[in-house]
Amino acid sequence: MMTQGLGLSLILLLAVAAGFLLGWRFNQKRSNAFKQTFAHSYYRGMSYLLNEQMDNSVDKFIDSLEVTGETLEIHLALGNMMRRKGEAAKAIKIHQNVLERRGLTSKQHHEAQLELARDYVSAGLLDRAESLFQELIELDSFYKSQALEQLVEIYQDEKEWDKAIQSANMLSRLKGDKEPRELIVAKAHFCCELALQDIERNDFESATQHLQQAVAFDKNSVRASLINAELAYRNSDYETALALLKMIPQQDPERINITLPLLCDVYEKLGDSDGLQETLKEWLERYPTNQLVIRLADKIRATRDDYAAADFIAEQLKRKPSIKALNRLVELHLLHSEGKAKENLQLLKQLVDKVIAEKPAYHCVKCGFSGAHLHWLCPGCKTWGSVKIIKGVAGE
Ligand SMILES: [Zn+2]
Repeated sequence: MMTQGLGLSLILLLAVAAGFLLGWRFNQKRSNAFKQTFAHSYYRGMSYLLNEQMDNSVDKFIDSLEVTGETLEIHLALGNMMRRKGEAAKAIKIHQNVLERRGLTSKQHHEAQLELARDYVSAGLLDRAESLFQELIELDSFYKSQALEQLVEIYQDEKEWDKAIQSANMLSRLKGDKEPRELIVAKAHFCCELALQDIERNDFESATQHLQQAVAFDKNSVRASLINAELAYRNSDYETALALLKMIPQQDPERINITLPLLCDVYEKLGDSDGLQETLKEWLERYPTNQLVIRLADKIRATRDDYAAADFIAEQLKRKPSIKALNRLVELHLLHSEGKAKENLQLLKQLVDKVIAEKPAYHCVKCGFSGAHLHWLCPGCKTWGSVKIIKGVAGE
């Protein structure tokens, strides 16, 4: 906090100093009396800054440095810095002051408008932000793309998925061939969110349409395949559910784990225990994960016995060390041990449980956010699909 405070004061000080020099140059031809007043304002501003009286220093800054083509960047930079520091009200004041000035080019005016709208977002005044962004889009401003990105984020936060898709589509058209993968993924997730709302209302026809739309945006949408498979399962269409689930490893092998509970249920409904074992083996061969080892071990245990399951896990551990698989192995051995050996295994299990509990299962590959559960939308950086399972000895 102290460093941040000092950094802010330093930048404000530099801003005021730069403003002072520009103002001095601008006012060279003016009267001495004016210069004295001008200088006085700056010294007052600096004094407030040094005493960290932020409210007064912002007012002084606005009063003493006229917004011109030359000083515009200083005003905008100070406003943006205030916003980043969480001082949205002060940022609004600075950017509104810029917008009140006449003589700016339309590009300069739009830049200030964009920053003011971002201040409104920070202040939670989303309606005002939305209408300013909309205005920039309607004006076909140089900042149209940034305004659309912000609008998508607002609609996403407000869960207004239709509007989010509409804005994202406009953004896609604007980006043309350079449409980022993140935008494509986001649009597919917006459709999945709509499908989930449909399912909640029991409108399965609309849900299916929204899922088709999701796949049209992103043919590798694991979430769309999974929701579709769940719908087919509900309709007792187990063959379709199975076909959809089997597509997922090709769409994204890192998402295999989330398909496993439904995959097991589907095979159970089909009464095809051998089929499940075959699929698990095939997936394990191609995309090894600890969950696959554990599920397969459970199957071996059900069809044969604990010893066969333990041997299977031990064999897999030699190929790929894993704390989670080790834990299941210890559990199996505990069932058949007694006396001192049992005591020692219990101690080992307590330790392994602790290691597993302390390790998050998922992390965001973009911002590093980590947690125990899968989030389709990263709570840290608000990116869709960036939260993935953690690999390695302690992970998957
Ligand atoms: Zn993130």
